[in-house]
Amino acid sequence: MKRILSLTVIFILIVLSVRPLFGQQTATERRQLMLREQLIPRGISDRGTLKAMARIPREAFVPQSQKPYAYDDRPLPIGDGQTISQPFMVAFMTQELRLKSTDKVLEIGTGSGYQAAVLSQIVDTVYTVEIIPSLAERASRHLQNLNIDNVQILTGDGYFGWKEKSPFDAIIVTAGAETIPPVLVEQLSDGGIMIIPVGPHRGVRQLIKLTKKRGKIKKTALMDVRFVPFVRKD
Ligand code: SAH
Repeated sequence: MKRILSLTVIFILIVLSVRPLFGQQTATERRQLMLREQLIPRGISDRGTLKAMARIPREAFVPQSQKPYAYDDRPLPIGDGQTISQPFMVAFMTQELRLKSTDKVLEIGTGSGYQAAVLSQIVDTVYTVEIIPSLAERASRHLQNLNIDNVQILTGDGYFGWKEKSPFDAIIVTAGAETIPPVLVEQLSDGGIMIIPVGPHRGVRQLIKLTKKRGKIKKTALMDVRFVPFVRKD
């Protein structure tokens, strides 16, 4: 009896140890791997950001055909010609916002809803604006499926921000703009931070961190990036 028991234990241990070789890791394990291989070595150290990235299932935000690649180190197509950013980019932009739980955050470019879901784990309320109605609807469903109820989505042109909910402590723009929309700077609160990719249409852009302190605007370039374009209704 004892022998059977110990053989069973050994068998289970062997199965568990070879399981990753056959790609049978659970989503939680794959997210841990994403943290260890893609995020932490590249300088993501903010605890809130890492915790949120470890918690949100990226596969729940991509089409069926993309689910096997959910934790790949790259952007993924989400339909309507749009993409969900690379996990590192989502984490980096989140970390740069230096969020406190009481902060009010505005995202421009809801896309799949993944970035908003990550933010929802850190702050009380996230406001997000998406210009393509079908994407806004899908994002809303993705969030509902995960019982995330602190994200509010507006369908419209994010160039105008979300006046009724302003000012915002943090603004994150996840589409590449040619210039910084002045309305967004207006809707940023004093002491607020905005992260926005800026540069020529379809070219390499710079990820800009803009801060506002006693009415003074300061801009710093963080890194070169590629993003789908920020579009206008007309
Ligand atoms: N943050 C998203 C990915 C964004 S992709 C995610 O986590 O999945 C960029 C998104 O910005 C696209 O969905 C695109 O439709 C949207 N977008 C582009 N221009 C916009 C505008 N003027 N206002 C609002 N959304 C815009």
